[in-house]
Amino acid sequence: MTRPMSGPTVELESDKCVASGQCVVAAMQVFDQDDDGIAILLDERPAPALLDDVREAVAVCPAAAIRLVER
Ligand code: SF4
Repeated sequence: MTRPMSGPTVELESDKCVASGQCVVAAMQVFDQDDDGIAILLDERPAPALLDDVREAVAVCPAAAIRLVER
């Protein structure tokens, strides 16, 4: 998948993460979890086709740890 040169950027505040895993369910190409369940950002500038999944992750994260910064 081609990585866009510009576009919305995903921000993850891992210190807020409560390891619920919903972001991985919503957008597994963008988020993973470490051995403690804390979210890992795999792709801070996802392809346009993935942005709806990221918006879903933002919506379901119980810790409000994810932001999609639209530029
Ligand atoms: S949905 Fe939020 S709290 Fe849950 S693992 Fe992802 S970033 Fe962490």
